[in-house]
Amino acid sequence: MSATIDPDTAWDAFTRRDRAFDGRFVVAVHSTHIYCKPSCAARRPRRENVTFLSDAAAARAAGYRACRRCLPDSVARDRQAVIAAATLLAGDAPPPLTALAAAVGYAPHHFHRLFHRLTGITPAAYARTCRADRVLAALRDAAGVTDAIYAAGYAAPSRFYADAARLGMTPQAAAVGGAGETLHWMRLVTPLGPLLLAATARGWCRFAFDEDRDELHAAFPAATLLPGARAWRTHAEALIAQAAAVPVDGSLPRALRRTAFRTLLHQNATPIG
Ligand SMILES: [Zn+2]
Repeated sequence: MSATIDPDTAWDAFTRRDRAFDGRFVVAVHSTHIYCKPSCAARRPRRENVTFLSDAAAARAAGYRACRRCLPDSVARDRQAVIAAATLLAGDAPPPLTALAAAVGYAPHHFHRLFHRLTGITPAAYARTCRADRVLAALRDAAGVTDAIYAAGYAAPSRFYADAARLGMTPQAAAVGGAGETLHWMRLVTPLGPLLLAATARGWCRFAFDEDRDELHAAFPAATLLPGARAWRTHAEALIAQAAAVPVDGSLPRALRRTAFRTLLHQNATPIG
């Protein structure tokens, strides 16, 4: 069985030691009977001495042994651990790093690096985006800001106010549908699908995949919505390019990669007005 990826792309990734391709194929080396991850640090064999196979099982079936340097068999286990951790981080009470790493069977420091390498962001940043995603709904449903803070899963107000900055307006304004606010919005293509971006003069207030103007209006029914002018689009395109340049394991679930991508957008976003 050969890899589903085309050989030129695979060779290019192998030559660059591109970690983003780890788990998408393995490199079987004829001369040594060893198979490697694309990112293996070992010296590159000549192209005529390698075959690209879909995974470690295919390589073993073809009589190859796992490289002791890059440990290609660990890729699937690493990915499963990151996926399991992301589920825990998206919950109401995301565990701190030590408990998180223990829950998926890794040492904390090692797991932190692993998560960052596969997703492009830290576990804490992932948890923050998941929690911040709940803020707007909590503000709309709760009797007041204090109630919303706890409904969204915040232990203390200070973190809430830091995350509420992602709304591009005060929590009070968001709670009343963005009354008095003007939102400049646009829809742009990203490697992970169409993304709606909206901003006030104070900052970006929404990054949402697959959404359009209707969903934005539902989120901020009292706000004035304006199509983003050229300056906003230029800014948005730069943000997307910056996030798209961060290497991410392409075989992680799309929803997880989208959350990581939005996190990168928030991390790089600056006010525009
Ligand atoms: Zn190797």
